[in-house]
Amino acid sequence: MIIYLAITKIKAWIRKILIISDFSGFGGTSIIYGGPDNSQINKYRLSVTVFLIFTDINSMPLLLFIFAISVLPLFSSNLLLLSNLDYSNSSLKKLREEVKHNLKISKTQPELRKNFLTSLKFYKYKVGKKDNFFIIMARTGMDLDTLSSVNDLSSPQDLREGMVLKIPNMRGVFDRDNFPEGNESKHKLSLKYNIDQTLLVFDRENQEWFIPGKGLERTEKSFFYGLAFGKPLMEGFLSSGFGIRHDPFTKKKTFHGGLDIAAEKGTEVIAAAEGEVIRCEKTGGYGNLVVLKHPLGYETRYGHLNEFAVRKGDRVKRGEKIGEVGSTGRSTGNHLHFEVRRFSKNQKPVFKEHT
Ligand SMILES: [Zn+2]
Repeated sequence: MIIYLAITKIKAWIRKILIISDFSGFGGTSIIYGGPDNSQINKYRLSVTVFLIFTDINSMPLLLFIFAISVLPLFSSNLLLLSNLDYSNSSLKKLREEVKHNLKISKTQPELRKNFLTSLKFYKYKVGKKDNFFIIMARTGMDLDTLSSVNDLSSPQDLREGMVLKIPNMRGVFDRDNFPEGNESKHKLSLKYNIDQTLLVFDRENQEWFIPGKGLERTEKSFFYGLAFGKPLMEGFLSSGFGIRHDPFTKKKTFHGGLDIAAEKGTEVIAAAEGEVIRCEKTGGYGNLVVLKHPLGYETRYGHLNEFAVRKGDRVKRGEKIGEVGSTGRSTGNHLHFEVRRFSKNQKPVFKEHT
């Protein structure tokens, strides 16, 4: 009789542990029903644990233990800091396992799936001195598309020491079409990406849809590899690169947001990629400036021009003349100041022929 009672008790405990682990593992259900974020799940987890404690005094010690392990993630799960990329780092191990698990699920036919995706989480990693894009990619189990999409990187050269990278626990990309949260968007996106609806996740923090297991579109990839931009001058030499430099006017350390390419006055300046002329005007610092708008949030700027060859609103093809080299504005000699921006942020210009 005593043994029977003990077994019943153990069974009841196991059932409770299962209930809680369902929440702590926050598996597929959360994703299928629109994906509550971590904090919501944590609230659930907490309330379930508190409820159990007050309803079953006899199993107090066990429940206290469960309470402790359920509450601990409340203080850590929102941070998810990756302090280093050593394979022995337990956070890194967990991340890699989740990436692997989620990749397998996103590649399996819906009817053959035995598990759900682990819900979308982001780890943060501060780029160190010796890091580069490919090391970080390999260590975290990511691929190029995921890292660049999640962090809005425009090229592998875009990493800088001290930059904080977001690393998701699944491979995939953000959709850039601003679909709002909801089932209608889910339906449209599943058609757009030819993906099962249950896999799609709306990330509330970014207000964007995450598409697990999918890669960048062709255009985006070509921008990322630097294949999208050609050189804006057929001749000339690089007189000042991208990044921190001593300002030629003030001699102080300043950030140079583009490349200076020295060339003779009147040299043809050509469009680095197909785009629309959104500015063509006289400015202070840039002198005569042309700004082209390209897909995916990209923009190129051509400063210090002597002459314009386009007008605002024109569409230009890659290689088409847009102006001539000059020394207008804040300039010390004939050169082109060439800039690439993405979502208004200066990017290091990368050309296929030049690294
Ligand atoms: Zn410049």
